[in-house]
Amino acid sequence: MGRRPFIAGNWKMNTELGTALELLRGVREAYKGLTDRDVMVAPPFPFLMAAKEELRGSNVILAAQNMHHLPKGPYTGEVSYPMLLSLGVSHVILGHSERREHFKEEDGVINLKVKAALENDLVPILCVGEKLKEREKGLTLEVIGNQLRNGLLHLETRIKDPDSIIIAYEPVWAIGTGKTATPVQAQEVHRFIRDLLGELLGTLAAEGIRILYGGSVTPENIDQLMAEPDIDGALVGGASLELEKFKRIMYFQKGK
Ligand code: PEP
Repeated sequence: MGRRPFIAGNWKMNTELGTALELLRGVREAYKGLTDRDVMVAPPFPFLMAAKEELRGSNVILAAQNMHHLPKGPYTGEVSYPMLLSLGVSHVILGHSERREHFKEEDGVINLKVKAALENDLVPILCVGEKLKEREKGLTLEVIGNQLRNGLLHLETRIKDPDSIIIAYEPVWAIGTGKTATPVQAQEVHRFIRDLLGELLGTLAAEGIRILYGGSVTPENIDQLMAEPDIDGALVGGASLELEKFKRIMYFQKGK
């Protein structure tokens, strides 16, 4: 199958210019010589241009944390995909649970964003995840299934290249809480997601699409998570802001 591991840092609304540049330098240096995996960083919007400059000559992937689905217009405070493309951004996180929760983004608008990204050669990292109450009620797979089906609605024929999209499974109860899904819990959902992708997009695409786990990933749990067959990488929040921690996560070893 050979899915290339993918380690991503989501900085959220953290850092200021100085600390952002320092962190970027650290990640760039740490990535030198790592040829068997992808590493991505998603700094805040105002630092993307400086980040591109700082990462020049490096293969560290630069991502945005969100975008609007329209190319331009009267949407004060929003950021469009042509803006991101003009900065050299190649990936964009969409449907993060914090966008769903605090900014009331629903599957419909997330679907429009995924569509705009796919049509414009930006790789969407589509986030899905259940809340604690939903897990306790046994609704995890139903919730994930709905988010995935709705997020990809009418886009099924557009996704032929498995590298054109990434899925992130992020149980909401594990984000920023210190509670990680066990590798077995995460693997169960990742397998479910891959099977559903198979139904929606065909087995070939589904077997190649990378599915990341996110939710309190740390240097201590990354190796066990990465040992699971359907966990292809990690979307890291808190630990991506601490260089030594993120480096250790980047340097994960399979099978530990
Ligand atoms: C995230 O924001 O995507 C995330 C997983 O955060 P944390 O690693 O802090 O739980």
